[in-house]
Amino acid sequence: MGERRECPPKDVCPECGTRGWQVYASEGWKGNNFLRPVRCCRCGHVHAMCDLKRLTPEERPAARERKLAKMAEWREAHREHNREYMREYNRLNRDEINRKLRAKWRSDPEWRERRLKKAAEYQAAHREQHLETSKRYYRAHRQECYLRTARCKLKALRRESGNG
Ligand SMILES: [Zn+2]
Repeated sequence: MGERRECPPKDVCPECGTRGWQVYASEGWKGNNFLRPVRCCRCGHVHAMCDLKRLTPEERPAARERKLAKMAEWREAHREHNREYMREYNRLNRDEINRKLRAKWRSDPEWRERRLKKAAEYQAAHREQHLETSKRYYRAHRQECYLRTARCKLKALRRESGNG
């Protein structure tokens, strides 16, 4: 875990990004304190209290880096748990997930193309494994494979003879 950082005060002007130049723009404000108008003495911008930012534009990229690093660290530390969680989630929601994927497959030709291309690339890169899987599938579904081929042939024949 990274070291614990002191949280900076929320006093950065949303307009010019400088810290600590706000004064109250209204005397005797009775309303919600978050909505109390304040004025920036640097740029003169008047805004509500709640519009103040915590970080200046210069501090933001570093803070973002820290946050991303922390997230990566967390993911790394909980890798096994996350993997198990996703496995369980996918198992419990398989029908829903498949339904969504089928709908996307039908409605998004661009995505479909990308998926097909990726699959072909994977297949080419894992040729041995792919052949092994194909063989195993064929052995387990011999009858289905045979029927599917026959049906394709029949369809082609019908098309040829114009009885389609
Ligand atoms: Zn300002």
